[in-house]
Amino acid sequence: MTKDCREMITNLNDFIDGALAPELCEEIKMHISGCKDCKLMVNSLEQTVTLSCDGKDKELPPILEKKLNDLLKAKWDAKFGKTK
Ligand SMILES: [Zn+2]
Repeated sequence: MTKDCREMITNLNDFIDGALAPELCEEIKMHISGCKDCKLMVNSLEQTVTLSCDGKDKELPPILEKKLNDLLKAKWDAKFGKTK
């Protein structure tokens, strides 16, 4: 796990919270496209990220937000161990 990956996961948390700036959406998309670990981790979420960035006025439905959060944490923990 690199520093960039840590920053990305932080940004993804902001994304889940609906607080992600458009320029960070672009950073996430760029990082994912160039980082195998993160690409694997967020592969199933990539479309959701893209949709959210393109429609940033919309909020995620709560059920999707929870699903995304749980999936992200589970994948991250499985790959890198518990954070914090
Ligand atoms: Zn990465």
